[in-house]
Amino acid sequence: MLSSFIFITGGTISSLGKGVAAASIGALLQARGYSIRIKKLDPYINIDPGTMSPYKHGEVFVMGDGCEADLDFGHYERFTDIKCSASDSLTTGKIYEKVLAKERRGDYLGSDIQVIPHITDEIKDFILNGREDIDFMICEIGGTVGDIEGLPYIEAIRQLTIDLGKAKTMCIHLTYLPYIRVAEELKTKPTQHSVRQLQSMGVQPDIILCRSEKNITSDIKTKISRLCNTKPENVIAALDAENIYLIPNMYHLAGLDRQICRHFAIFNEKSEEQAEKEIHRKWVSLEHAVHAPSKFAKIAVVGKYIKLKDAYMSLAQAIAHGGFANDAKIEIDWVDAKENFPNIENRLQNVSGILVPGGFDSSGVDAKIAAIKFARENKIPFLGICLGMQLAVIESCRNVAGIAAATSREFSEEGELVIDFMDSWYANGILECRTMSGNKGNSMRLGNYLCRIDPGSLVHKIYGATEVTERHRHRFEVNIKKYAEIFEKTTIRFSGMSMDGTLPEIMELRDHPFFVATQAHPEFRSRPFAPHPLFASFIEAAL
Ligand code: GLN
Repeated sequence: MLSSFIFITGGTISSLGKGVAAASIGALLQARGYSIRIKKLDPYINIDPGTMSPYKHGEVFVMGDGCEADLDFGHYERFTDIKCSASDSLTTGKIYEKVLAKERRGDYLGSDIQVIPHITDEIKDFILNGREDIDFMICEIGGTVGDIEGLPYIEAIRQLTIDLGKAKTMCIHLTYLPYIRVAEELKTKPTQHSVRQLQSMGVQPDIILCRSEKNITSDIKTKISRLCNTKPENVIAALDAENIYLIPNMYHLAGLDRQICRHFAIFNEKSEEQAEKEIHRKWVSLEHAVHAPSKFAKIAVVGKYIKLKDAYMSLAQAIAHGGFANDAKIEIDWVDAKENFPNIENRLQNVSGILVPGGFDSSGVDAKIAAIKFARENKIPFLGICLGMQLAVIESCRNVAGIAAATSREFSEEGELVIDFMDSWYANGILECRTMSGNKGNSMRLGNYLCRIDPGSLVHKIYGATEVTERHRHRFEVNIKKYAEIFEKTTIRFSGMSMDGTLPEIMELRDHPFFVATQAHPEFRSRPFAPHPLFASFIEAAL
């Protein structure tokens, strides 16, 4: 089958869950036996979100190949288990970078460069790239229809609909139906306006997916269908869900995948039956884990971006997966490390596990270190991630080895820099070099790195392997070369080391039942159907 293209746009307001919608559509097509790929086109001008605060667009997701990308890629990977790569993520910054490099090379000699066709052609090339290997290319357009930055993207999908034909392309538009309490009514006007806006740019949505907190009656569907020029059966409800993993089956029951198949003329009873079975086997089974776990645990996450939950998207998901693995419901107690805690012990009294996640700069570090000390001294299960591991090393150096000046170069130029900037390291056998004053963008140790696990250690038992690959995103490292003697005075065991033996990748404490910290970000690899072993065992220890 020649690959088909599904474009997903969003209207009315942002944060409607286009990413989860794209991921769910991918999962439903997979359930019908189709191969898929999901791409995201972000209209912002940054080259990638790597230099943005998580408060802007939520967490920065890291792909295996080291691409720093939008958090929606996390949904794509978790829902469909596909592996996304840099060739799936586009931003306006990337397009202009490429076009301007071509201009300097002289590729456009004689012509002036314009949004149409030069920018739109690059967008089209990006969308078409890699279509040979898959049945469906799902492309999520970031932002909301009407944004100035988004115009070239809408134009590109309009052109592609002409180039490839209606039978091979479709547009799914996600909108919002606000419920007006006094009138006890769902309102369709914002949806009408956003569809008009799309139509004014030459794009007709084939399916309108309506986010709503209330059931959508057939009258409302008929109204939207008439006013938006869409078949009534293609106006589909996307009701608020208690848990994102319930969404694929909700969409299926609402008829979304069936209507997609009808559009592409691939609908038949046999595939319907197959989909039913597969959705049951995966998504309906997961409902039990979501709804009816027999155990419960409360985990404290001591971080500094806790005011926006999206900032810790993959982490929260991985913790939930750890719960699925243990038949347990997990409540996360978000502890704001930037608050002033005279006594963090009081704040952490009722939790059965403590997690210190990744982070940047010195703000909130004191509270995090206090939380780590509390976990270490009271034998509370602890999981440290990236900065969480660096702080766990500092904490042991300060409070066990008695080196009060132990710190990281990220916080201070003075003191014993047990965590230091590494100006070179090996990435799959290739030497990577950096300087402190170099560019900040795309310059960290990023993406997949193999790690050698110490046989007989706790993490060896957890992983059940002596070599593991995890994704990284950090600039600083444990300076074992200089401070090995100090580490000897603590109870730290570096149970995971880089393959060349120079960089500590995982640590645990010899005298603690579960104190594990990793320089990597295991949360990016956790899946609802394959919870990450570190999270599963951390939750088990907490229970
Ligand atoms: N700020 C630390 C570093 O750059 C840790 C980064 C992180 O937690 N992702 O090394």
